[in-house]
Amino acid sequence: MSKTRYFDWNLDNGLVIEYARGGECKKCGICCGSKIAVTVSDPYGGKPGNGGKTTDGKGLWHEINRGRWRWFFKLKEINRDCKTQCGSLTDEGLCGKYRNVRSRLCKEWPFSPHCLEKFPSCGYEFAELNRWKATEKEMGLK
Ligand code: SF4
Ligand code: SF4
Repeated sequence: MSKTRYFDWNLDNGLVIEYARGGECKKCGICCGSKIAVTVSDPYGGKPGNGGKTTDGKGLWHEINRGRWRWFFKLKEINRDCKTQCGSLTDEGLCGKYRNVRSRLCKEWPFSPHCLEKFPSCGYEFAELNRWKATEKEMGLK
């Protein structure tokens, strides 16, 4: 399987940053007990949680890249103070869903340092690898 790569695309100013993700999930369950809303412009099967193949051409998009597979998410809202939590979260803070039926969002989370801004105790971390100004061809992500 191809290595997973993580990119932030700022389509307003053309800045692209590639990150390496390290660490691991500490199974605290905090993100699963929070409201995380994302936007996709071309959702697979009509479900935003499964990411999109394209963007709307503006704003900050997060790419998960696994060889020929590319998924794009735009973060809309992260709310740790919501009163409800995912129904699949067990009392032990684990995911009660089988790995293959979880949404792409759940499988790939977190995919950018922006995902961790509200979760400073998360066991994952991101390190910048590279940054550049996107070419017009690269900006054609829609
Ligand atoms: S499906 Fe699993 S990974 Fe996704 S939010 Fe619910 S408990 Fe967390
Ligand atoms: S906040 Fe981080 S460490 Fe905690 S469950 Fe979510 S991904 Fe795992």
